[in-house]
Amino acid sequence: MRKKIVAGNWKMNNNFQEGIDLSNDLVSKYKKSDKNKELIILPPFIHLTSVAEKLSNSKIHLGAQNCHTEGRGAYTGEVSARMLDSVGVRYCLVGHSERRANFFEDNNELKKKCKQLVSNYINPIFCCGELLRDRKYGSYFEVIEDQLEVLWSLSKTDFEKVIVAYEPVWAIGTGETASADQAQEIHKFIRRKISDEFGSETAENTSILYGGSCKPSNAVELFFKPDVDGGLIGGAALNTVDFLAIYNAL
Ligand code: PEP
Repeated sequence: MRKKIVAGNWKMNNNFQEGIDLSNDLVSKYKKSDKNKELIILPPFIHLTSVAEKLSNSKIHLGAQNCHTEGRGAYTGEVSARMLDSVGVRYCLVGHSERRANFFEDNNELKKKCKQLVSNYINPIFCCGELLRDRKYGSYFEVIEDQLEVLWSLSKTDFEKVIVAYEPVWAIGTGETASADQAQEIHKFIRRKISDEFGSETAENTSILYGGSCKPSNAVELFFKPDVDGGLIGGAALNTVDFLAIYNAL
């Protein structure tokens, strides 16, 4: 049975002490409700070692927001999957729309990042989603199909470590959410594509999260849809009460 997951992307928010305070608050209030439901936080790099310690006796999992395409070497300022593994990171975002837009990440680069992650025992959380103009012109299925091509470069065994996050770019940080029906339509499409590539059993076992202005008030409706297995949360992940209310909607 596939896992139900809520993952919180802190982005470039929280200084060190604020990040520690948020982690402590989460650890003290989080109650794992079911062995099939998982809570993941994705702090900035500088928090990871200390947050890992705070989470060590909790059931909250640790992830990162990015990694480099190579394992080691002369890449000043970068962080490799191998380094992330060494501090206890078990999940990592790949292809978040902010990185695609601001750092021009393309499929080629994202393929390398996925390979680095799976080779270092880290589960990629692969983000895909269309721009507002793609939605308006009705080309969103093609856009997502093209983005998913990154995942077809993995072996079936490596793909089975991937979590997919559908994040329509027009809904990220805008307060505008895809309706539950819009989310379901794309999640079903993604699951069908996975099935075409790796078979129906793998498709049924893959968690597909929705991301884009998810909050306590819309989480229940979104998570009720059969192909929506949880959420990737930005803004609301910075507030323990909201973040845990979203988790409790799983
Ligand atoms: C995100 O950045 O992945 C995200 C979903 O952000 P928000 O929840 O703030 O829209």
